[in-house]
Amino acid sequence: MSKLPNVTTSIFTVMSKMAAEYNAINLSQGFPNFPVDERLTDILARLTKENVHQYTPMAGYPPLMQEIAKLIQSSYNRTINPDSELLVTAGATQGIFTSILALVKSGDEVLILDPSYDSYESPVLLCNAKPVRVALNDNYTPNWETIEKACSPKTKMIIINNPHNPTGKILTAADFTEFERILSKYPEILVLSDEVYEYITFEEKHISAHSKDFLLDRCIMVSSFGKSFHITGWKIGYTIAPEYLMKEIKKVHQFLVFSVNSISQAAISQYLEVVDVNLLGKFYQEKRDYFQKLLQNSRFELKPCEGTYFQVASYANISNEDDVTFCKNLITDHGVAAIPISTFYSDHKDQKLIRFCFAKDDFTLESAAKKLGNI
Ligand code: PMP
Ligand code: GLN
Repeated sequence: MSKLPNVTTSIFTVMSKMAAEYNAINLSQGFPNFPVDERLTDILARLTKENVHQYTPMAGYPPLMQEIAKLIQSSYNRTINPDSELLVTAGATQGIFTSILALVKSGDEVLILDPSYDSYESPVLLCNAKPVRVALNDNYTPNWETIEKACSPKTKMIIINNPHNPTGKILTAADFTEFERILSKYPEILVLSDEVYEYITFEEKHISAHSKDFLLDRCIMVSSFGKSFHITGWKIGYTIAPEYLMKEIKKVHQFLVFSVNSISQAAISQYLEVVDVNLLGKFYQEKRDYFQKLLQNSRFELKPCEGTYFQVASYANISNEDDVTFCKNLITDHGVAAIPISTFYSDHKDQKLIRFCFAKDDFTLESAAKKLGNI
């Protein structure tokens, strides 16, 4: 009877709820706990008195669309046509869902890399299409050989997430060379590139799908202001795709939401005129370094983190419990919430790994590290 029989409440909801119940420090679900830039909240306050409370045009508030086009130009030297190639969405989640629903047909296959963020599979299933999970290498780089083997004339779409949640891995120039080689054999395959952490990379620069010519005519690129401006609750993002795909995506968007929250769009359009997104990487690199330093004498073993605001850690030196049990006990016994990495795998592969969100103020990171250091 159920259309999604295997879907349960998301691990982010489960862990955040449990963290609240036990009054634990919540490093599970990914959201910042520090104040939003006052320039943005001031703009928002001012806008409440202005005429920005009615429907915007379906695809987005025109000044915001212009600002996003400028952002893409300055970030990636790519010129997009905001009228035909851009859609403002209610978060990246809606961009992902809407794009899949618009473009994937019954019987198609969609390649999803394993481990993966949780919101890709359900829309594929709702299209009566088949999610094909392809394992990343042990160090979380894509295994292009197995990706190539999984491609067939049935493959409609490959979903990539760069920088990668939960592992913090980013794609290299060599990855894109391999990707191009494979895609050149399959002109029909579309790419959905989830780049919500595009401005949160550290030692290495982010390589966006926007900067790869071979992707431009077949790629749907999804991003989120939630991540870039520390406003996950605003649920505003955008999707960029070539016109022939965007035409189809807009058909679904029109009847799914019609248009996105007007005042948030207006506020972000004005904020984009003054904010510098290029400062974000350094900001989170300092947080990552501080969190890693705080945990360096703990029994957790920290994995490399090249981007995102997530730190993966092994607890193999501490416990033999499976990662879901370990995370639950971490909340009840030690007062810190994290996310078990097995939940990002299709087969719940337990590797004694958990994910911490370090998008927190220093006091929160210090308090959490004190508890984690005592385990
Ligand atoms: N993709 C990834 C990889 C994410 O981590 C998230 C959420 N944090 C999203 C998409 C969804 O973004 P939004 O909250 O803007 O819907
Ligand atoms: N993307 C967030 C994370 O990975 C969760 C967002 C959500 O709860 N849907 O933690």
